[in-house]
Amino acid sequence: TETLETRDPEIFDAIRKELGRQRDEIELIASENIVSAAVMEAQGSIMTNKYAEGYPGRRYYGGCQFVDIAEELAIERAKKLFNCGFANVQPHSGSQANQGVFQALLKPGDTILGMSLAAGGHLTHGAAPNQSGKWFNAVQYGVRKQDNMLDYDEVERLAREHQPKLIIAGGSAIPRQIDFARMREIADMVGAYLHVDMAHFAGLVAAGEHPSPFPHAHVVTTTTHKTLRGPRGGMILTNDEDIAKKVNSAIFPGIQGGPLMHVIAAKAVAFGEALRPEFKTYIRNVVKNAQALSDQLIKGGLDTVTHGTDTHVVLVDLRPKGVKGNATEKALGRAHITCNKNGVPFDPEKPTVTSGIRLGSPAGTTRGFMETEFRQIADWIIEVVDGLAANGEDGNGAVEAKVKAEVAELCARFPIYPNL
Ligand code: PLP
Repeated sequence: TETLETRDPEIFDAIRKELGRQRDEIELIASENIVSAAVMEAQGSIMTNKYAEGYPGRRYYGGCQFVDIAEELAIERAKKLFNCGFANVQPHSGSQANQGVFQALLKPGDTILGMSLAAGGHLTHGAAPNQSGKWFNAVQYGVRKQDNMLDYDEVERLAREHQPKLIIAGGSAIPRQIDFARMREIADMVGAYLHVDMAHFAGLVAAGEHPSPFPHAHVVTTTTHKTLRGPRGGMILTNDEDIAKKVNSAIFPGIQGGPLMHVIAAKAVAFGEALRPEFKTYIRNVVKNAQALSDQLIKGGLDTVTHGTDTHVVLVDLRPKGVKGNATEKALGRAHITCNKNGVPFDPEKPTVTSGIRLGSPAGTTRGFMETEFRQIADWIIEVVDGLAANGEDGNGAVEAKVKAEVAELCARFPIYPNL
């Protein structure tokens, strides 16, 4: 009967403070979202107590009949959502979903071809400090200098030269749609697998607002906590039966032990939510809102990489105002607008400084912001950035305080978690 508050006041207090932060600040981190109370209820459930190594109907532990229901529902809903024949919902994270694909299809020392971190790729696509860069011969492609669009000619040239066994499409800071058919054509030229990591835009695919990686990809990975608006976690999808078998063995017993059954139950809830018509409306708004944000930032004198977006991602190029990503992230934080510094393609600054910030519309759209609110947010960003441009890293304290007060008013009009 003891509550968290009496059992562990320090953690209780940290959680209350984090709830306050989420309620009172504008969340623009492109990889974050605000899950439903139902998703949290499943994730906070007694399914956390259960060991269930193996797969539904084939477990290495007794008493799995009810967690099997949760995992089977998660699998069935995932297959329906992405119109594919197989889903493994056990990866603990997006990184482990990618690791699972590598374990299934590659051997240490094999060549992989992925997008570089500097151009918008993810660490797990072959970056030097990541296992994917250490255990494989990782070759990296980027974007074109003239328009910052994915350089398919470079992908083809590198593929022919290095003969990779696996080509990865996708990334963490890509505002535009990827031509999956073209990537598959290149993969076929050299006999490589095409692996699409749709972690960022999975929700858009689920809602039919972004082309599907199928039928082009041999295998698809995703996180479940970004645009898909589920619990933190990963997933692997395919239509190829042989790859499906290998993926199952790769995740368990290859790289994981017991699956997180409470998280899998929450994944099932989120997939169920994403199958509803309201989710299509939500995602349509996510894209419209990101476009409004980008448009208004450009009007205010900033630039965005590729001068717009097809997705939920807006990668802001701060150079027209002569300010840096690290200082901007901090100044916006003081005004209660949360984002992350991010390199722009061919960034002259170090990754700890950067010339950009990455913004996204998923969390704000969940709390009900529409284009009007996102244009207002863009105006606030411009005010704060102009303060940095005029005064250096300390910014304009008065402007930041004024914006913080206006942010508080906006957030109060769009409350989250009223029952917590
Ligand atoms: N793949 C992409 C494209 C991502 O953006 C991310 C997360 O940032 C991941 C994989 C890794 O997901 P996780 O942070 O759950 O390991």
